[in-house]
Amino acid sequence: MTQPPQPALPPPVLAQAKPPNCPDLAAQAKWAMGWLHTTRFLITAAQLHHLPRYRLPEIAFVGRSNAGKSTCINTLTQQNQLAYASKKPGRTQHINLFALGRQGQTDAVLADLPGYGYAAVPKHDKIRWQEVMANYLMRRENLCGVVLLCDPRQGLTELDDILLEVIRPRVEAGMHFLVLLTKADKLNRSEAAKALSIARLQAGGGQVRLFSALKRQGVEETALLLSQWVAGWKPPAPLSPLGDMPPSPSDGLS
Ligand code: GDP
Repeated sequence: MTQPPQPALPPPVLAQAKPPNCPDLAAQAKWAMGWLHTTRFLITAAQLHHLPRYRLPEIAFVGRSNAGKSTCINTLTQQNQLAYASKKPGRTQHINLFALGRQGQTDAVLADLPGYGYAAVPKHDKIRWQEVMANYLMRRENLCGVVLLCDPRQGLTELDDILLEVIRPRVEAGMHFLVLLTKADKLNRSEAAKALSIARLQAGGGQVRLFSALKRQGVEETALLLSQWVAGWKPPAPLSPLGDMPPSPSDGLS
């Protein structure tokens, strides 16, 4: 497959997002929502070594297909079509990167990874994508945090567990990790409490929150948390010279 055209790199300096330095959490969350609204499509890549390397914090969104990932990204960024770009034929098995930052600056990158576990995908494609995702999650140097979307009525599945194992060393080394229990509007109070406590046991050091795009539950809190991750990010030292990510032997999940 030919490589898609590469967009111009954002400035190689760290222009970090800085939420207002005030104790008012509501004001900070509002700022974070405005910041996320600046998100724009950057690039799509079918292979890891096609991903440009940025000296910018990157937050990856992962989850089983149908977990509510696209809806979550669109809700957080307040853009109806943004993540559905990832569902266009030809892009479903790509990593889609989005840039965000005010006034045309880029201070962070969001990565939308392909949903996994979709039954209709041929087995060899599934395995290839598990390998690409595992490699991305283990090796992407500027990865600042991972958001795992999970439909609590299904719970964390075997594939989610594999993903948790893959990222565990990085979470233990300080990488941020959030499990968002999506479609929370479909749960009553006791179901929600039960889902939260089960996911907390499984999340291995990550945070867990309820999220509903429909009821706008957890939206501003999540926006605030992501902005805090980015504001506190320090580039890994030394970050190897900027350029394309080198190909590597696959470290598969299978
Ligand atoms: P993806 O495959 O993970 O990107 O999932 P989508 O974002 O496409 O969502 C899958 C289905 O769940 C769609 O029918 C959405 O309308 C639905 N959905 C997503 N978020 C919510 C939510 O917060 N509440 C409810 N009730 N349905 C949701």
